[in-house]
Amino acid sequence: EKKLLAASAKDLTPSYDWFQTDGMVTIVIYTKQKDMNAELVIVDCQDKRLRGEIIVNDYSYVLEVDLYHAVEEDFFINIAEKVGKVEIILKKKDNVHWKMLGQPLESHNTFIKRKNRGLFYRKCKLVSKTEVTHDTKLFCFMLPKTTRFQVPTGQHVYLKQIIAGTEVVKPYTPLLPFLLLDFKEPSCHDSANIYLMIKIYSCGLFTQALDHLQIGDCISISNPEGNFKKSQVQALEDLFLLAAGTGFTPMVKLLNFALSEVSSLRTAKLIFFNKTEDDILWRNQLEQLALKDERFEVQFVLSEPARDWVGKQGRISSSLLSGFLKRSRKDSKVLICICGPTPFTEQGVQCLKDLGYSQEEMHAFTA
Ligand code: FAD
Ligand code: NAD
Repeated sequence: EKKLLAASAKDLTPSYDWFQTDGMVTIVIYTKQKDMNAELVIVDCQDKRLRGEIIVNDYSYVLEVDLYHAVEEDFFINIAEKVGKVEIILKKKDNVHWKMLGQPLESHNTFIKRKNRGLFYRKCKLVSKTEVTHDTKLFCFMLPKTTRFQVPTGQHVYLKQIIAGTEVVKPYTPLLPFLLLDFKEPSCHDSANIYLMIKIYSCGLFTQALDHLQIGDCISISNPEGNFKKSQVQALEDLFLLAAGTGFTPMVKLLNFALSEVSSLRTAKLIFFNKTEDDILWRNQLEQLALKDERFEVQFVLSEPARDWVGKQGRISSSLLSGFLKRSRKDSKVLICICGPTPFTEQGVQCLKDLGYSQEEMHAFTA
């Protein structure tokens, strides 16, 4: 039985091959995965260093070589989704015959658990910075030409800066530049841009440094990570999003995906917890969306409201949630996603358990 297990694990390991023409070098990766797609392929090819990563469920396959000769900056990626074949097509700088693909680097041809694969960073340029609220900004970073990846719904990236001589790393959740639902990902916008909505804390170590970046400055951004699976939304009927403050960020792509791609969806409800009215992110867009799409509803709950606030107030609690979380029909397929400060998320999960929701019916976004 052990032998059988070993054999099946080996069978799952991707393999690669390469060939060349006068002007091109093509690397072919056989992923052995039937539903390959662009979100599972991450390629960096700068100077002569090529790194290609393929995500296969909880595993990561990496090709990493110091190429035999120089290649042009731009390259192509072809994905045969059904057969699970990924081609990386490089343009030779010089029309010479390559005797080999290159020298293998440390991680070359390895297939290991994703969580054991170290973060890989590349420098991204700050393209724009716009105000969202009094303390929150939308940053747009551009991936270099030499990098290709897409950030899947529900995943985050890590940003790295040297602050006062020390490397500091913090996670942030990419979103769409606005909550418009007439388009479909990924053709909707340039996938070379990464949009981040970030709250600048007056005593925040990382966000203060981030806020001091000038347009054109660079910052290191990692590969995407996260354990949310799109399959959790498949055949979904009711989606409830419990967001507090910037915990709103993972909800943006999720809402967009659910409303535009999940045909079974009947209701999508966002319950958005903030301190004051001024802290509400994209309030206008959310209200517009609710008017436009009758499946979508938004409720704002303030913990420090002004006197004139007529909406809901308080913090997350079972009684508050029980009023909001109504299934569209008995036994409907439901998912409740929760994100915010750790105590908020923990209390929320406990409330949901108390209200009788199962583990499969909830997803908490955490690091
Ligand atoms: P810090 O120096 O860590 O402090 C932040 C503020 O909180 C300061 O005012 C400080 O005084 C106070 N503070 C620090 N620790 C505590 C504590 N334990 N209790 C109370 N107060 C405290 N943030 C976003 O803005 N947008 C995102 O999209 C986003 N995505 C995230 C995704 C993940 C998976 C995770 C885990 C976090 C995400 N965050 C996001 C939060 C982000 O990673 C940083 O924690 C945040 O930007 C603060 O960093 P900082 O170094 O500026 O602040
Ligand atoms: P905030 O301080 O403005 O608080 C927003 C709301 O959260 C409050 O109005 C309150 O309703 C609730 N809240 C705050 N503290 C609470 C507590 N101790 N117990 C119960 N409820 C509480 O929030 P912020 O400054 O925007 O912070 C957002 C948080 O979300 C950060 O901690 C950030 O790390 C986290 N976040 C996590 C992820 C992720 O894990 N994927 C993504 C984005 C943001």
